[in-house]
Amino acid sequence: MIGRYSGVVPHGDLLFLQKLAERLRDRTFLHINSTRAGGGVAEILQRMIPIMKELGIGARWDTIEGDDLFFDMTKKVHNALQGNKEHITKEMWDHHYDINRMNAKRLDLDADAVLIHDPQPAPLVEFRKSATWMWRCHIDVSDPVPEVWSNLKGYCAKYDAAIFSVAKFARAMGTDEFIIPPSIDPLSEKNRDVKEEEINETLQKYHIPPDRALLLQVSRFDRFKDPLGVISAYRMVKKYNDCILVLAGSPATDDPEGEVVLKEVRDHAADDPDIHILLLPPFSDKDINALQRAATVVLQKSLREGFGLTVSEAMWKGKPVIGGATGGIPLQIVHGVTGFLVHSVEGCAFRIRQFLNNPDMSARMGERGREFVRNNFLITRQTRDYLSVWYSLENKGKSVLTL
Ligand code: UDP
Repeated sequence: MIGRYSGVVPHGDLLFLQKLAERLRDRTFLHINSTRAGGGVAEILQRMIPIMKELGIGARWDTIEGDDLFFDMTKKVHNALQGNKEHITKEMWDHHYDINRMNAKRLDLDADAVLIHDPQPAPLVEFRKSATWMWRCHIDVSDPVPEVWSNLKGYCAKYDAAIFSVAKFARAMGTDEFIIPPSIDPLSEKNRDVKEEEINETLQKYHIPPDRALLLQVSRFDRFKDPLGVISAYRMVKKYNDCILVLAGSPATDDPEGEVVLKEVRDHAADDPDIHILLLPPFSDKDINALQRAATVVLQKSLREGFGLTVSEAMWKGKPVIGGATGGIPLQIVHGVTGFLVHSVEGCAFRIRQFLNNPDMSARMGERGREFVRNNFLITRQTRDYLSVWYSLENKGKSVLTL
């Protein structure tokens, strides 16, 4: 069945993946994160688990459960790891541990390999049974609040390996480290080819006019995604170019700040009829696909970012992209080649106008972007990388060149 990717992803990726999977057939691989929906981690897991199963690997995905206090605390930890000043008290860390202890009782942690995603479930390693345990960090921890990092690092050092999305994010951990950028699935509902009618259906559903230049940002309502900056850039552009702005997002279940930010966005948009703020229900993949395809320019003007999957999603659709020069975005946007990187509202407005005024250049960059994603950011490559790390940890010191 994995053959359906043939002709879409690079041939070498597929061959290597199949060879690795033969070595790991019938072994079990457990992934644990903190939410089933919302955000990039859930997005990838939804697609990767079935692929691993198709390859004959016993892949499972579980999520930890917690109360409001837990998710408030882990959001603070997330913000502190990305550099915001936050103070996490000893009681909060104790609560973090306790919730994980309860989850360890509830979850079946028995698997040949366990991949724990992000800080929320990191303490589960304290309850590990014999297996290969890997901690996967999706966020930018290059400049964290030191006490918060040192608390978390205590857990991380107990894993067999730590995996980061971008080399710049990695820190000395006292365990093996690997760099694995995230990816998108070209065959998912969010990225598959769609018909013109499907695009029109979505535009009608959300009352978006089909015949005007459309600027789009798809993101959780999170300050790091800079939705207010996007609105300001749109206003600068609007003085010279006709366009509409669509900000599409939905709150993730592990993100308690979403509603506050949404209100700020609504206030900043005021009553401009050309700003469409769409609150998408979870699993709106087809609509997101259609919006990205309908867009004239796709923005991801983040101030801080883990990877920014929305950038690859748009590039795969051949769209000109503008992204904040942060996190994993510069891995995807080669400035001036596959899109533009920006550092300010003014820079963003300038690049939007450049795209709107040069449709040929936009199309050329879009095409290059699609090929760049094909070669670097498709899910077969990421699945291959996870299996490679697991295999290499189990075979430490042995030659693995005979694969
Ligand atoms: N996304 C979604 N619905 C939304 C907002 C975002 O399905 O309302 C998806 C988006 O298409 C992308 C992922 O969630 O696949 C966001 O990943 P990204 O790495 O851009 O940001 P994160 O939310 O993980 O910080």
